Amino acid sequence: MTLPHPRTGQVFESPVPPGAGWPGDPADAATPAAAGPADVVAVAASADLDALQAASSVCRACPRLVAWREEVAVTKRRAYLGEPYWGRPVPSFGDPDARVLVVGLAPGAHGANRTGRLFTGDRSGDWITAALHRAGLATSPTSTDGADGLRLVGARMVAPVRCVPPDNVPTTAERHTCAPWLRRELELLRGVRSLLALGGIGWAASLAAARDAGWVVPRPAPRFGHGATATLTRPDGVAVTLVGCYHVSQQNTSTGRLTAAMLDDAVATAVLAAGPLA
Ligand code: SF4
Repeated sequence: MTLPHPRTGQVFESPVPPGAGWPGDPADAATPAAAGPADVVAVAASADLDALQAASSVCRACPRLVAWREEVAVTKRRAYLGEPYWGRPVPSFGDPDARVLVVGLAPGAHGANRTGRLFTGDRSGDWITAALHRAGLATSPTSTDGADGLRLVGARMVAPVRCVPPDNVPTTAERHTCAPWLRRELELLRGVRSLLALGGIGWAASLAAARDAGWVVPRPAPRFGHGATATLTRPDGVAVTLVGCYHVSQQNTSTGRLTAAMLDDAVATAVLAAGPLA
């Protein structure tokens, strides 16, 4: 069954086939899909940024996550029964010349797994997009779908696990399997000067990816905390500041564990560390 995209009206299957015309789809029907961890390592190692976006968006290396993302794309949430769901890995979103890289956790089941764009279409996306807009890093305070015109300026978002996991909890093996995509992204994003890690998993994934990419990471490993910072050093000697922030999950924002002021402070720390964005 095909259903219309909520903004463009173009009809799609759910999950969306690569190259079908979905807004922001970086892949086409010929993009090869990684079938296991070794494929992810091999494809990521030599990819440029466009190839990385395309290849990661069709990856099938984690059987449990492939099954879950596609099941969610069929069963859906009641409010979105009339829409197609992306149902594929969600690639990074934002400025290829970013100085601030936001490192989250994984796509939301009915947010990014539905819209195909990171932090888009759910409450978590509302929070981080509004904060980036207040900081001058997003052209709009809202993030609705992949055709809404939102752009990030000087900032980019990435998920260390690109497929939605059951209960939002990826296994250790799944985190390791997905890690080469993030490692390669760190190598390619030469302008990045700060990493804003949302939650402990984003923090740990940032440290691991930096280590894998040959960056100097302090020992013992810096501990995650809201407002915590650490200095990482790239192989070319450039310093990159890692900033910790509680995740913008609905659980954290609805309980007040993370307030808008706290989020703004963390974003401001990352922006200050990144230096001039223009
Ligand atoms: S989580 Fe990452 S490695 Fe696993 S299937 Fe999704 S994109 Fe591929």
